[in-house]
Amino acid sequence: MTPFHYRCTDCGKTYSRDQVRYLCLDCGKKYRPGIPLVGVLEAVFDYAAIASSFRKDHPDWNLFCAVEPEFHPPLPVGGTPLATVDRLASELGLFALSVKNDGLNPSGSLKDRASFLVVAEARRLGEPMVVAASTGNAASALTTLCASAGLKALIFVPEKAPRAKLVQMVLSGARVVPVKGTYDDAFRLSLEYTTERGGLNRNTAYHPLTIEGKKTVGLEIWSQLGYEVPGAILVSVGDGVILGGVHKAFVDLKRAGLIDRLPRLIGVQAENSDAIHRYVQNGTYADAPNPDTVADSISVVCPSNAHGARRAILESEGLTLTVSDDEILEAQGILASRTGIFTEPAGATAVAGLIKLQSSSSRLPENTRAVVLATGHGLKDIDAPLSRISIPPAIEPRLEAVMEAGR
Ligand SMILES: *Cc1c(COP(=O)(O)O)cnc(C)c1O
Ligand SMILES: [Zn+2]
Repeated sequence: MTPFHYRCTDCGKTYSRDQVRYLCLDCGKKYRPGIPLVGVLEAVFDYAAIASSFRKDHPDWNLFCAVEPEFHPPLPVGGTPLATVDRLASELGLFALSVKNDGLNPSGSLKDRASFLVVAEARRLGEPMVVAASTGNAASALTTLCASAGLKALIFVPEKAPRAKLVQMVLSGARVVPVKGTYDDAFRLSLEYTTERGGLNRNTAYHPLTIEGKKTVGLEIWSQLGYEVPGAILVSVGDGVILGGVHKAFVDLKRAGLIDRLPRLIGVQAENSDAIHRYVQNGTYADAPNPDTVADSISVVCPSNAHGARRAILESEGLTLTVSDDEILEAQGILASRTGIFTEPAGATAVAGLIKLQSSSSRLPENTRAVVLATGHGLKDIDAPLSRISIPPAIEPRLEAVMEAGR
């Protein structure tokens, strides 16, 4: 771990680590549930210290970590494989394409990275309970990491969350509170709870270490590519914290002088859940009032990290685009059948974005090394693909029946 302080991403005011817990003490006063977060804090490290200690031949990733290793939960998180997918790369007219398979985290999604660090922080602070609102994956990640560390978890989720995710939460011993309403309702309720009753709130971007936790995926991509910065990274976007975290990884590396350019970030949203996309396009923010999509993990009316996500896209000279539910489910099948990687609809959204981008006028140049994040495991929501495929009927156990069924 390297010394760090927090800096407000809106007003620039700085705070020591224990002076503040969630938002900037000034800007945060302007925040109320129902608008994107203001006063989101960024961890600013002693980059000279990182530069002098980091060695590529023997990398110590804890140098980039905001919580001391002694507080880390025992369950390992991250270190997921980066698969090179040449066949898909050439189909899409790309020099190189890799898929970061973050569905292989313990609870099956990239959210484990954020929960790992916030649970570590709860242990450092001596907080016995962590509270979160989630569309599903942040909650199952938090309950998983709390189970590992022996902390209590209190979860607010929309009642329509996929059942596999609800099973994960309940089985890990958490208190699960399904909410009659949207993710945004659950978000507001969880904030009211921690303000009145206590517990450490893990809400995405509200707790600054969620962004720090998610940044580890960017650090891993850099190292797994042999310490090369990819040309583009495609990320599916709901609240915009994964996008912000990936960006922060490369910002940290650049500030430490370890790299000299940022990868272009390409944020992909579902058509109806497109608040960040429109914000990037128009420069003015407006909610996505009916964010219905098959990609439940990225369905959000008011993305909490809208401002940070927009900044990440602009600073990295990236872009955003949207895809339809049909394109998402089709991409899920393409990824599974071409690469063997089964990702949930929200993960396939980034793949759908890449497919769409490559058939448009803003396609990535042929010499691009691109990376797609597969953010969650396909088994988390099997109902979604079942709407497009059929499972063959059973046959009599006779060879002739096999031949007949194959016709
Ligand atoms: C949460 C999530 C996302 C989107 O992350 P945000 O930080 O909300 O933008 C994408 N895919 C999966 C599987 C997720 O769980
Ligand atoms: Zn501020």
